[in-house]
Amino acid sequence: MIQVLRTEAELRGALAAHWADGKLGFVPTMGALHEGHATLLRCAVAAHPTVLSVFVNPTQFGPGEDFSRYPRTFEADCDLAERAGVSYVFAPAPEVIYPPGWRTFIDVDEITGVWCGRFRPGHFRGVATVVHRLFQLVKPSRAYFGQKDLQQCLVVERMCLDLGIPVKIETVPTVRESDGMALSSRNRYLSDTERREATVIYRALEAAQEKLAGGQVEVEVLLAAAKAELAKVPAFAPQYVEIRALPNLSEIQRVEGPAALAIAGFLGKTRLIDNCILRS
Ligand code: AMP
Repeated sequence: MIQVLRTEAELRGALAAHWADGKLGFVPTMGALHEGHATLLRCAVAAHPTVLSVFVNPTQFGPGEDFSRYPRTFEADCDLAERAGVSYVFAPAPEVIYPPGWRTFIDVDEITGVWCGRFRPGHFRGVATVVHRLFQLVKPSRAYFGQKDLQQCLVVERMCLDLGIPVKIETVPTVRESDGMALSSRNRYLSDTERREATVIYRALEAAQEKLAGGQVEVEVLLAAAKAELAKVPAFAPQYVEIRALPNLSEIQRVEGPAALAIAGFLGKTRLIDNCILRS
C-alpha cells in the first residue's frame, strides 16, 4: 500500500531508513498526473524506493495565472502512483513547505531571464525555491524531471551545482500522444478544436529538426522553418520560438554544439510549451 505523508515528522518516520541507505528516488509534481508523470515514476521506481510529491506551488504562479483553477485530482494521482510502484506520496499543506514567516527565495541568474523566464517573471524563483525546500525535506539521492520543462531541468541542475546539493538530477524524455502532442496537465483546458490545432507545435519542432538533418545549421533558417509551420495555425499565438545553446541558454547563430529549440504560446487562454534537443 502506498503511504501518504503530510508533515516533516511523517517524512522522518517513513524515510529515515532510506536516508541511511542513501537510496531514495524523488519525483516532484503538481499532481493532475498523466502518462508523462507515470513514466518519470516508473524510471525512479526501477532504480530505488520512490517518493512522489504532489504540491501545487503558489510561488511559481504569477498574478492572473491558473493557480486557483489548476486541476487537483489527488485520489486518482495516488492510484496512478500505486500502479507505478511508488512507495510514498508526500502531499504537504502550504505551511509545511513555507512555514509562517518564510522569507527566503532562491534566484538562479541568467538562464531564468530567457525563454519562459522572460514571460513568467518570478516563475523560476518559485520553482527553484520549492525544489530546494522539497529536496531539504525528502532528502532524495536522485530526482527525476521531464524534458518537457527543459528550462526547469537546467535551473534545477544549476542550483544543485551552485549550492552543492547532493541530488543526482535525471532528465526523462518528453512523453507524447500518438500525434506528437506533449502530454501536459494543462491539455485538459483545451477544446477539441484547440487540441487538434495544438499539434502544430510538434510539427514546428519537426520542421526545424528536418532542416538540421538536411545539413542546415543556421539558426535563422531553422527558426524560419519552425515559424512557417506555426503560421499555418493562426489560432496559435506564439510567445517565443528560440534556439539557444545548452546548458547555459546563450544566444547562438549556428547549431554546432548542444542546443535546443523551445516554443511557447497561447491557444485561446491556454499556454502551451514544448521543445526539442537539436543534434547537429
Ligand atoms: P508538473 O506537475 O506538470 O509540473 O510536472 C511534474 C514533472 O513531470 C516535471 O518534471 C515535468 O517536466 C514532468 N512532465 C510533465 N509532462 C511531461 C511529459 N509529457 N513527459 C515527460 N515528463 C513530463
